Amino acid sequence: MHPPIGIDLGTTNSLICVWQDSKPTLIPNAIGEVITPSAISIDEDGSILVGRAALSRLTTHPNQSASAFKRFLGSNKVFELGDKKFTPTELSAIVLKSLKADAEAFLKQNIHDVVISVPAYFNDEQRKQTRFAAELAGLNAVRLINEPTAASMAYGLHDEQSGNTLVFDLGGGTFDVTVLEYSMPIIEVHASAGDNYLGGEDFTHDIVKACLSEWNIKQQDVSADDYARLLDLAEQLKCKLNGEQMQHLTWFWQDKEWQFELNENRAKMIWLPLLNRLRAPIEQALSDARLKPNQLEHIVLVGGSSQLGVVRELVTKLFGKLPYRHINPTTIVAQGAAVQAACRLRNKDVEEVILTDVCPYTLGIESASDNVHGLFSPIIERNTIVPTSKVKTFYTSRPQQKLISIAVYQGENPRVENNVLIDEFEVPLTPMEKKQGIDIRFSYDLNGLLEVDVVVLETGKQHGKVIDHSPIGLTEQQKQESHERLKSLKIHPRDQMQNRTLLARLERAWAQSLGDERHLIGSYLEAFLDVLNRQNPDEINEFRCDIESELKDLDR
Ligand code: ADP
Ligand code: MG
Repeated sequence: MHPPIGIDLGTTNSLICVWQDSKPTLIPNAIGEVITPSAISIDEDGSILVGRAALSRLTTHPNQSASAFKRFLGSNKVFELGDKKFTPTELSAIVLKSLKADAEAFLKQNIHDVVISVPAYFNDEQRKQTRFAAELAGLNAVRLINEPTAASMAYGLHDEQSGNTLVFDLGGGTFDVTVLEYSMPIIEVHASAGDNYLGGEDFTHDIVKACLSEWNIKQQDVSADDYARLLDLAEQLKCKLNGEQMQHLTWFWQDKEWQFELNENRAKMIWLPLLNRLRAPIEQALSDARLKPNQLEHIVLVGGSSQLGVVRELVTKLFGKLPYRHINPTTIVAQGAAVQAACRLRNKDVEEVILTDVCPYTLGIESASDNVHGLFSPIIERNTIVPTSKVKTFYTSRPQQKLISIAVYQGENPRVENNVLIDEFEVPLTPMEKKQGIDIRFSYDLNGLLEVDVVVLETGKQHGKVIDHSPIGLTEQQKQESHERLKSLKIHPRDQMQNRTLLARLERAWAQSLGDERHLIGSYLEAFLDVLNRQNPDEINEFRCDIESELKDLDR
């Protein structure tokens, strides 16, 4: 029996969920929490830490730690952790591996097939990198599901509902808007729009910028460690914001205390440019779905950042109704992915849901007229229902042409230079006296992966090409190297993660504080190290629980 498993591989937080006893069950990690921060750190002994311990070390050991790597999936960015180098895909694979281990410990069996959610706006390359990350982790991503669509699956089962719904997903690094229609058991996605570079992190960075500007400190004068501590404080401040009440932040830098205070009103001013950026994808999704804001029946908030008061206020104003969010906005995507996994396996407990999704961006090729080059010719227009297959005829630009170059782009700009290059390849031709016609077929599947087929009309010759050598795509050798690199990593033992996480939290709290508070934390740290040295499991557990409850106020 393969259990149906869904994974939300988030920019900030990742979750794994199994469909069990007729409902999605979130699986706890090694420290007993269902939310695993997508953070990785290399410990002093060279072993890999994933999750909360790594997140704490991001503050105390920024050069050995990384987070938010999902933002760079499909790019050339390399993360350096200590003396090791990783691609964003490899780091994602390490998170997946850790989730896999959690699920295997929980279910007491090996797992392999999973459904993984991705931002609707992820392009072809980012989807492929997600699949490859799964492969590196020893998993098979049988289906990639768009995150807002996953969220809608969880809601669909939770509530008998019907009508036009807007799913507003603001996470740590991405923003997605999806307009869909429920008429159970059918969920029909009408339009998706989004911004791959807008999320809670940007709100935090803006607070840091506001602090530095108020204090007249130049960012380049602040070391990476000090900056990481300030960022951490700004993040905590952000999550505490509540109405008029001022929240405070104190940063220690160059032997001085730096104070900053913020309430929602002031935050709104700082965030005005970001809040304005939320409008464009909403407007686009509505206009593509041919709906007016007042034609929406339900607004569903998803993602940790949808908890920001200013964001909820904006949404309420825009739609003239209160958004509803009775499923936890940070776990709903994983729950929906598990529902999808159960549907795929035709699990008898799950009411069949028929889901139609769309391709959220326009896909096409570069074309030229006599005098103008670099034009974008769409083949699949954005928000076409998937799976879809569309064909368009193009012509060579002159007689005797020996080959034709095909450059595939994604985007909404009439000039290719402003769109995203997905792939480029050449098709050989038999030179002829006249210009030749070529049929180019794009097929876009349920997972959001694209295939291109070319038929030369005069000769009938076919050239099939699944796009897999995108400009930054990986060769077989590079893939193999990734496999080897991951295999050689030493993962921190699961059974010691609770202790390791507490140590990391104490170190972070110590770094953040001064004076009496620091002294107190220092004494906890020393006492805990002492207890660990005695190696008595009962004593260690009891002591750890005590300190954890003491720390509740000091730590997020
Ligand atoms: P992702 O989908 O990117 O992994 P999540 O949906 O887990 O992200 O959201 C993470 C983001 O939510 C972070 O930027 C975090 O700062 C923000 N966040 C979490 N809790 C709160 C809160 N109570 N108020 C405001 N923002 C929050
Ligand atoms: Mg998310």
